[in-house]
Amino acid sequence: MRRLRKTKIIATLGPASSGADSIEALHLAGADVFRRNFSHGEHKDHEERAAAIRALEEKTGRPIGILADLQGPKIRLGTFENGSVILTNGAKFRLDLDETPGNQDRVCLPHPAVLESLEDGSILLLDDGKLKLTVAKAGADFVDCKVSVGGKISDRKGVNIPNALVRMSPLTDKDRRDLDFALSLGVDWVALSFVQRPEDIAEIKKIVAGRAAVMAKIEKPAAVETLSGIIDLADAIMVARGDLGVEMPIQEVPSIQKRIIARAREAGKPVVVATQMLESMIAAPVPTRAEVTDVANAIYDGTDAVMLSAESAAGEFPLEAVAMMNDIAEETEKDPMYRSVIDAKHGTLEATTADAISAAASQVASTIGAAAIVTYTTSGSTALRAARERGETSVLVLTPALKAARMLALVWGLHCVHTSDAKNFAEMVDKACKISFAEGFTRPGDRVVIMAGVPFGTPGSTNILRIAWVGEQ
Ligand code: PGA
Ligand code: MN
Repeated sequence: MRRLRKTKIIATLGPASSGADSIEALHLAGADVFRRNFSHGEHKDHEERAAAIRALEEKTGRPIGILADLQGPKIRLGTFENGSVILTNGAKFRLDLDETPGNQDRVCLPHPAVLESLEDGSILLLDDGKLKLTVAKAGADFVDCKVSVGGKISDRKGVNIPNALVRMSPLTDKDRRDLDFALSLGVDWVALSFVQRPEDIAEIKKIVAGRAAVMAKIEKPAAVETLSGIIDLADAIMVARGDLGVEMPIQEVPSIQKRIIARAREAGKPVVVATQMLESMIAAPVPTRAEVTDVANAIYDGTDAVMLSAESAAGEFPLEAVAMMNDIAEETEKDPMYRSVIDAKHGTLEATTADAISAAASQVASTIGAAAIVTYTTSGSTALRAARERGETSVLVLTPALKAARMLALVWGLHCVHTSDAKNFAEMVDKACKISFAEGFTRPGDRVVIMAGVPFGTPGSTNILRIAWVGEQ
């Protein structure tokens, strides 16, 4: 199965997309990576979804990435008797430590440190800032609030307290348990929420110890301030606009998004734009024009992936949302303006053979009109440098490491194939031609540009650029 776009799509799985059939339908419609939000769901659910994804891989032969998104020190409400309540403006509402399901009058806020840090007059923003509570009376283990901006609020919605300083570790006990479990499932990516400092990434990387790649979610003012250090340590970055737009003045989100994409691209680290991309599709089969334009703009900036959250996890039209993103990406990438914008933001090359060969491959491929670039990789690092080129020609990644193939499913323009390593020069050429043909990238008579490393099978040895004709297959 060949995608007709370079930008990747991440779809969050949830109650609206839990069965093996719907996961398959979402993958066929365009989802390259599936995200599980560990703020929701039981371990058993995560395990079942992971098993369904791996079974689907087996069936289609296409590597699929699984992203485990850890809640991080996110402050969330408890649950309600009936799943949700509607709070009206001016009403009284209490937050306390009582884990009994909430109602019209109260709900649990299961974070003692947070309750302690609140004072009379403190502002709490609920559900990505949709509702606003003002603390009227702060008690020892409760706060009585006035509903300043009302609305519907449901189980475990997020709470932001923009002005209070709450001391919480970057990984809560729940995160540590979830992380252990996610790693035992063999997930390819773990994302950490509410990262504040590069040290937070160092801490999670120490635990992960190479078993998965680590994504830093940028959603706190502190993370925006230490962005370069975070990008250096993380394997990928997410522009987590939901919380970012609550924690920072919302009008700063567009410029921060553009800055993060530009810096991540320069560093050759994959970047994901997330949250509310097609929000209206939670309840409607067609998005707003503004949403379509937002997705397209992230693509024009050269983001590696665009992400669906509630649209695919809990909405009424998960399949339509994925298909819509696919269509927007295909159309945007066809625009001649897209190519000129992408080229204008090309990064400077590092003085490494991987960069020299990647840039040369891209140049040679467009000069001779090659149908594909084929790169051999074990760790995936050469493929990341090839993706950083943001070249016009399709890039096929051949790797003996299934783990790398799955991890790279997130990355701009890479079509990964799990296969044994070439043992010699002739096999390197033969495999590149056969596989590019079988995967629908080439026809007999086409040329391919091959990147590889000699001695074969030695990681980090990329040193060969070879042009080959695809013969009769
Ligand atoms: P969340 O992260 O959906 O886990 O909150 C994304 C965001 O904040 O945008
Ligand atoms: Mn968030």
